Amino acid sequence: MTTPIELARVDLRGRTPAIAELRSALPRGGVDVDSVLHHVRPVVEAIRDRGVEAALEYGERFDGVLPAAVRVPAAELEKALDQLDSTVRAALEESIARARRVHADQRRTDKVTEVVPGGTVTERWVAVERVGLYVPGGNAVYPSSVVMNVVPAQTAGVGSLVVASPPQVRFGGLPHPTILAAAALLGVEEVWAVGGAQAVALLAYGGVDTTGAALEPVDLITGPGNIYVTAAKRLVRGLVGIDAEAGPTEIAVLADATADPVHVAADLISQAEHDVLAASVLVTDSAALADAVDAALNAQLPVVKHAHRVREALSGRQSGIVLVDDIEQGLRVVNAYAAEHLEIQTRDAAAVAARVRCAGAIFLGPYAPVSLGDYCAGSNHVLPTAGCARHSSGLSVQTFLRGIHVVEYTEAALKDVAGHVVALSHAEDLPAHGQAVTARFEALS
Ligand code: NAD
Repeated sequence: MTTPIELARVDLRGRTPAIAELRSALPRGGVDVDSVLHHVRPVVEAIRDRGVEAALEYGERFDGVLPAAVRVPAAELEKALDQLDSTVRAALEESIARARRVHADQRRTDKVTEVVPGGTVTERWVAVERVGLYVPGGNAVYPSSVVMNVVPAQTAGVGSLVVASPPQVRFGGLPHPTILAAAALLGVEEVWAVGGAQAVALLAYGGVDTTGAALEPVDLITGPGNIYVTAAKRLVRGLVGIDAEAGPTEIAVLADATADPVHVAADLISQAEHDVLAASVLVTDSAALADAVDAALNAQLPVVKHAHRVREALSGRQSGIVLVDDIEQGLRVVNAYAAEHLEIQTRDAAAVAARVRCAGAIFLGPYAPVSLGDYCAGSNHVLPTAGCARHSSGLSVQTFLRGIHVVEYTEAALKDVAGHVVALSHAEDLPAHGQAVTARFEALS
């Protein structure tokens, strides 16, 4: 007989806390990345100094397996695709097709702005040259993350892509075959069997494989991962770009009495299944719904496969039920929380959703559970966690592009604005800036 679970409650009814107080009152775990930096720094430095040799040593220690080489042979990608279960293949193909449809609409076109007659600024969008896509492989297998990383990168026009994923003991040091198959389905030819901090460092610094082949460093690293992956991303940031410091997954559900407690409970469990640190939060103005969700969680838990992980995640300080006076206050709460995934299960869900300012992605109404977005909605599932949705967005085509301004002025257009440049250069005590403009006309006269 297992102990029944009851989500911790935060009762905000009759209170209007200021934003800082509100944020600290809400359930939130957070991962202390700083606390593992001392552990991860030597790994990153060893890989910078000794490359593949060090990556393999750390892989043997943390993953318990020593692959013969880091680069996965092309034949293994083909084999994994040949042996992929046909229903999983069909699901991946559908997921890829839907994601490609959505991401194709995110493509940007170069824009020429005529600032003045004879003076133009063109914003040119250029894809990052070489990208490393991290696909986690510790607790779970994430072929869906291959799709969510690769599709926007390919759509942006990234020419050179490498996928890195941890080597698995039961597959002789190769990444999980479903990950290899997903990469092959997407046309990715370069996959490395390396995980955790050592993967991030090797992507950033590059190296020479045991076969003598070069592992070229990348310009940008994207993809979710655990605390060690995040810490390593923090350490190599600057040398390479990173998408974000992804934390454990989060779901917030804003629901009123019209929501079905069985669906809400199932959705809270679905994200708790990721990680003991995952956060599942219900925000509701209905105490009756809160009680019914608790009951539904307990009814569903006995048949949940990863019940231990789910129980721990739901019992953690990062999960709970927030009781509010009404949906108006609920909106204030979810905007302050800025969840990675936000479900709206209320009357007039679309109107409520339109007033959400902060969320990684919004799942609207009773038929858009977060797990649809995890796999097959067409939206991207790599999203900002830990409140970062207040200032950041999820992975998209834009992540893989750089905007370059191309400035073109005629002699007349420059002459026309020269006085303003000179005035500003004097205001900043940088007169040579102004002289660089006037020199052109003095030389002419
Ligand atoms: P992971 O691949 O991120 O981490 C596994 C690696 O961690 C191993 O290869 C190992 O090298 C390293 N490691 C393990 N123990 C270590 C130790 N003691 N010291 C140093 N390194 C160590 O896989 P994971 O652990 O399953 O984590 C995946 C995370 O990604 C989860 O938190 C999950 O919620 C998250 N995730 C997020 C999204 C998203 O879109 N936001 C999607 C999928 C997964």
